[in-house]
Amino acid sequence: SPLSHDSSILIVGAGTWGCSTALHLARRGYKNVTVLDPYPVPSPISAGNDVNKILELGAFGGEEGDERAVSRMLLDAAIQGWKTDPVFKEHFHETGYIIAATTPEGKKFVVEREGASVEAGFRKLSTAEDFRATMPKGVLTGDFPGWEGWIKEKDAGWVHAAKSMQNAAQEAERLGVKFVTGNEVGKVERLIYEDGDVKGSKTLDGKEHRADRTILCAGANAASLFDMKDQLRPTAWTLAHIKMTPEELELYKNLPVLFNVERGFFMEPDADKGELKMCDEHPGYCNWDESSQNSSRKSVPFAKTQIPKEAEDRARGFLREIMPHLADRPFSFARICWCADTPNRAFLISLHPSYASLVLGVGASGHGFCHIPAIGGFIADAMEEKLDPKMKKCFRWRPETATKRNWDDLQGRFGPEGSNRVMNFGDIGEEGWTSIPARV
Ligand code: FAD
Repeated sequence: SPLSHDSSILIVGAGTWGCSTALHLARRGYKNVTVLDPYPVPSPISAGNDVNKILELGAFGGEEGDERAVSRMLLDAAIQGWKTDPVFKEHFHETGYIIAATTPEGKKFVVEREGASVEAGFRKLSTAEDFRATMPKGVLTGDFPGWEGWIKEKDAGWVHAAKSMQNAAQEAERLGVKFVTGNEVGKVERLIYEDGDVKGSKTLDGKEHRADRTILCAGANAASLFDMKDQLRPTAWTLAHIKMTPEELELYKNLPVLFNVERGFFMEPDADKGELKMCDEHPGYCNWDESSQNSSRKSVPFAKTQIPKEAEDRARGFLREIMPHLADRPFSFARICWCADTPNRAFLISLHPSYASLVLGVGASGHGFCHIPAIGGFIADAMEEKLDPKMKKCFRWRPETATKRNWDDLQGRFGPEGSNRVMNFGDIGEEGWTSIPARV
């Protein structure tokens, strides 16, 4: 049926992109929007339920020539939102961004893919002293062995993730969007297929939510609700927190993000919990369904607030290079965090070619959080069939790019020696996980 502001629109998933889409649809005047999620915002299994995320500056996408232009368009729209939109701007911390690498391949990547250059507003960091001087004395105390990097001070930094997602949801709700959340009532069990189309979805409580358009924004779980023809690979990364002392909190303020593409990254401690968050870098973990070990492999997300001990070791190795004084401090919290990679890490935002009422807002590929201010607008554009032609091409439904998919492809990511490969949670025995006590 033709779209109007009275059309019923169902969003599956109230995570990062679902909340953004809800907000943009409400602002465009849609009056009948419902969002389903097994959890209230912020969902504990949402990749966006995190204290902070990097405003990512790199280009991602296909080899088709438009990727730089599309990445630029996305980034400009995101930065505009972070700087001007009342829903988001208080959560943007324009503290700068340091991108670095250790091996020759990593250093090449930083220039070619992340676009670090003087012309792009970066300054080169060549020595350990250069790195240490980017933050107040006493923050970075390490030797930065073999590190080379770049710093960008403007239009770069980090965003408070959970709070921006909550703000987006609250504003959408204020504008009339209905959020149906909770395990029975909000968890989508399956989509409703009828007359060769998708007509909504059915939740665990047996209720049918019928709609004129269904927008799939279920993140890493999208592939378990709809046959994505191998275009999504659910992949997890590992994050850990360290409790800081009041004195450290005073010192560790307004810090640039520091990211070594082969080691990991950290951001300044958050004001609420007083914890410093870091991620060890690697090409990701999958959780392979052992019954699917053929050309069409299946990685199945699960929730866990622990990380493999090998990830702890990598995180501590990273700290030893930059802040050895923190390297042995216990973790106060850790979890695995799932996203879904397309084969070329460009987003998949499109109407489905055969199910006319199904809209896909998936494939955030590890760099989708920072787009929360604007991504819902592009998803709404796709629904309204007016997405910018370059984006439409880049973000299309593209199963031809996933035939005989190389499931172990690093997808442009790196890890330290020994971890420079896609890993399998199935190889981590029960003893292989951390046992960090729950936060009090
Ligand atoms: P999510 O935010 O995960 O939302 C999916 C939602 O679907 C959840 O709310 C979930 O509860 C819901 N759902 C699941 N199953 C169902 C169901 N059956 N029915 C209904 N709802 C369901 N990006 C950046 O830009 N910068 C960064 O620094 C950055 N760092 C990252 C670090 C880590 C460790 C990870 C894992 C990701 C990082 N990302 C970063 C990527 C970013 O977090 C994701 O790309 C983005 O949050 C994905 O948004 P999404 O809406 O697709 O998925």
